[in-house]
Amino acid sequence: MRDHRELGRELDLFDTDSLIGAGLPYWLPDGAVVRHALEEYVRTAERRAGYQHVYSPVLGKRELYELSGHWAHYRDDMFPAMDVGGEQFVLRPSLCPHHAVIYRSRPRSYRQLPLRMAELGGMYRAELSGVLGGLTRVRAIQLNDAHVFCTPEQLADEVRAALAMIRRAYDALGISPARYRLSLPGPGGKYVAAPELWRRSTALLTEVLEHAGLPYEAAEGEAAFYGPKIDVQVTDAAGRESTLSTVQVDFHQPERFDLRYIGADGAKHRPVMIHRSVIGSVERAVAQLIEEHGGAFPAWLAPTQLVLLPVTEAESPYAESLARDGRARGLRVEVAEPGRGSLGARIRQARLVPYQGVLGAREAADAQVSARLRDGRRLPPLPAAEALARIQALVDAHSTRLWDDDRAGPTATDREE
Ligand SMILES: [Zn+2]
Repeated sequence: MRDHRELGRELDLFDTDSLIGAGLPYWLPDGAVVRHALEEYVRTAERRAGYQHVYSPVLGKRELYELSGHWAHYRDDMFPAMDVGGEQFVLRPSLCPHHAVIYRSRPRSYRQLPLRMAELGGMYRAELSGVLGGLTRVRAIQLNDAHVFCTPEQLADEVRAALAMIRRAYDALGISPARYRLSLPGPGGKYVAAPELWRRSTALLTEVLEHAGLPYEAAEGEAAFYGPKIDVQVTDAAGRESTLSTVQVDFHQPERFDLRYIGADGAKHRPVMIHRSVIGSVERAVAQLIEEHGGAFPAWLAPTQLVLLPVTEAESPYAESLARDGRARGLRVEVAEPGRGSLGARIRQARLVPYQGVLGAREAADAQVSARLRDGRRLPPLPAAEALARIQALVDAHSTRLWDDDRAGPTATDREE
């Protein structure tokens, strides 16, 4: 594995500028393509799993975070408040308070539960400049977040479903979790004091992990201030471990925000809140992807999916027309013209592109493509339309396989139950 900061610059994915500030990376076009594909994947997976998407502002009044408890328990990690017209605003350290407010903005019935609210939204952390770097220690974070509001009876199923969604995403991303961690409170005053609620949530998360047959380790002092969580840990190129995905059970925020739903009995009840992130922050997820794959992303994430290589100028018009066909199918296709160097040099330049289509006189005459795969395999010449259709099918299925050799139906990564 290589450090994502080095690869990110080499591959023109992202960069930083001291004038913008440390910990505030910007995304270059190829990095933006990867990020966009990732965000699309997450939004689609969430929609299929019954989530509704919302948008909420990246700041809020100080009172909002006093109510949520962030101001008391988390202030050291927050940017200082800004005074505007006699009111104080803070850049949000999490999306939860906004989502709790959106939940309580309308009357809710048990028929609407579980209510799954998702957002890919910005949040901010006042990290000290000494620890900032690349995409893993940043001050502006784009979080894949969601909150499930449900009844206590629905809780275990929702936690299970969230874990299953995380595992499917890891299959598609080609990321292997280092371990599952059950994060519990430690000594000290940063946790909300409610021993009975902590005990109940911890028992539930333990049961779900046991039931799923997932090996896990308990870690004290790693819980959120309002509740215990399951963390999915990954390892970076330097061997450092960090949390990518989380599922947290929270009885506390619904109390603070006085959240209610009308039950089948016509009376008011308190929902439980699950905080869940499938890929964590977009920044950390892309850093992990860069390191796990050394820049050779699964085809559905690759900035360029297919590069077409006309052997001579004579095949350039054919390459251009094929590129148009590919783009019309939604594929990201580039043409590497003969003027850019010898065929061998152009192939080496495109070594991270999953599909390379070599177009000689015979291919142009027969409307065929002789494709080379990134892993070195060469395919027999195929009719151009078939080659494009098969690449498109693998991309649409978010497959980590480069080719459908056996055509044996859906692969392990195509599961979308
Ligand atoms: Zn949350």
